Amino acid sequence: MNLNNVKVTKVIVRVGELSLVDEVALRNAFEAYSFGSPLEGAELVVKTERSLFKCKRCGAEWSFREAFPQLKENIPVIHLYPHLVTELLKCPKCGSNEVEILRGDEFYVEGFEYVEAES
Ligand SMILES: [Zn+2]
Repeated sequence: MNLNNVKVTKVIVRVGELSLVDEVALRNAFEAYSFGSPLEGAELVVKTERSLFKCKRCGAEWSFREAFPQLKENIPVIHLYPHLVTELLKCPKCGSNEVEILRGDEFYVEGFEYVEAES
């Protein structure tokens, strides 16, 4: 494969709802920074990953939305309310703060599609 002749047609990114990545800003940045590169014009597919927390003491699992059902759908607002973090990181069953994030803080390129241009 000659990389000089590659045209990327699709980029798939996995974005956790706790990752603080703003999808609109990400799309704008992708468009701006891909200009003039093999990525220019490629479709950007953003796959949102819901959060999942697990208590290390009792094994309970819960999501961001279960912890804060009053928050609107699709608004990863944790960065706007840093004082919530300490509450988030307490187990709703046993109150332990020995909590791990199983999902929801990821941000990576999951894959991409490309075609080899005619040379
Ligand atoms: Zn617990």
